This record gives sequence, C-alpha cells and structure tokens, in this order.
Amino acid sequence: MNSVILLGAPGSGKGTLAQHMKTRWGVSHISTGDMFREAVKNNTAMGAQASVYMKNGQLVPDDVTIGVVEERFSKDDVKKGFILDGFPRTIPQAQALDAIIKDKDLKITAVILLDVDKSLIIRRITGRRSCPCCGNVYHIETVKPKKDGICDGCGTALIQRKDDTEEVVKERLEAYEKQTAPLVDFYRAKKILVSIDASRSPDYMVKQLEDLGF
Ligand code: AMP
Repeated sequence: MNSVILLGAPGSGKGTLAQHMKTRWGVSHISTGDMFREAVKNNTAMGAQASVYMKNGQLVPDDVTIGVVEERFSKDDVKKGFILDGFPRTIPQAQALDAIIKDKDLKITAVILLDVDKSLIIRRITGRRSCPCCGNVYHIETVKPKKDGICDGCGTALIQRKDDTEEVVKERLEAYEKQTAPLVDFYRAKKILVSIDASRSPDYMVKQLEDLGF
C-alpha cells in the first residue's frame, strides 16, 4: 500500500501525476487546492476565507488548512492509502500531519519531490486550462482536449484558473520558495524523500516511481 506526499512547486505536475497514480494504485487523491476550490464554488464560509488568499497567490492560513485536512482524514478511505497533493506546504502543516498520521496509526511511505525548471513551470501554468465542473486539467499546447476549449470528460467550457495568470504565478512561486521549500530538508532528515525528474511526461514519471520500487 502506498501513502505518499507529492512535494513540488506550483506547476511541477503534482495534480496530473496524482491522477495517474490514483488510477494505477486505487488510492485516494487528497488535494487541498481542490478542496478549497470546491468550498469557493459552494460559497461556504471557509471558501470565502480561503479565496482571499488564493486569488493573491498566497497560502491559506495554517489553522484553516490543517482543519480541512484533519476532517478529511476522519474518513475511512485513507486506510487504503492516499496521495497528498499540495499538503503540507509549511513546516507547521508537516508537524500537524505527523500528529494526524500517528493518531490514525497510518504511515507515509515516501515524500516524492517533483524536480522541474522554473521556466518550464511558468509555461506549464499559464497554458493550463481546467474544467470547472469535473476538475480535468488540459494545456493549450501539450494536453489539448478533443474539441477546442471543451472538457473531454463532461463537455463543460474550460477556464483558466484565476491564480494561473503570470502575475499570480510569481506570487505562488515566491510562497513556495519561502514557505514550502524548507520541507525538502524536513523530509530529507526523516530519510523518506525521493526525487524524480518532473520535466518528463506523467507516464514516464510513474515509470521512474515503479523503477524505485513503488
Ligand atoms: P494548488 O491547486 O495546490 O496549487 O492550490 C491552489 C491554492 O490553494 C494555493 O495557491 C493556496 O492559496 C491554496 N492552498 C492549497 N493547498 C494549500 C496548503 N496546503 N496550505 C495553504 N494554502 C493552500
């Protein structure tokens, strides 16, 4: 059973890789970004709070984020394994996760660092188009839908996420460097960090992981 954390800058391909791994391993995909977007779409109080930070490319405060994850881990499916995508993003979040994992008697198999060049990140994110309905993700050059601008899965018109514009992406990358990059050393010290080349296709990344014994 695999229970992993995907660690990497915005646009490093965490979400896409998670989708591939989920299909392959039959484990749960837990994306705090997706949970926040869902809360914003449903106009919940937590969504209103989160959206202020999200649209500026900043991190949602730790207490809110940790609360969301605690609630998610109260569901039984996590016992079958999970992929954490976009959480933790700060040291206090990582410490809170350690406590949750211990409390639930679970185990993190590995932290997978998606290593990718910054210039590729900007190109990936600003070209990204998402389905507001089912969450499928495309790219204007590399992952085109069958019909221009329309989701293959559900036929909804694709959108560019508000935080995928070049201006907000710069803020998000800054937040990554300042608040999230320190997690690399945090998990390296625990000897559970593995690094993969995230400039390659998702299939190739999954192959890299399988070669590593996943
Ligand atoms: P993502 O889809 O993972 O890039 O997340 C989109 C946005 O949601 C981020 O830019 C943050 O504003 C917020 N967010 C997602 N996950 C977290 C987290 N673990 N901690 C704080 N904010 C988060």
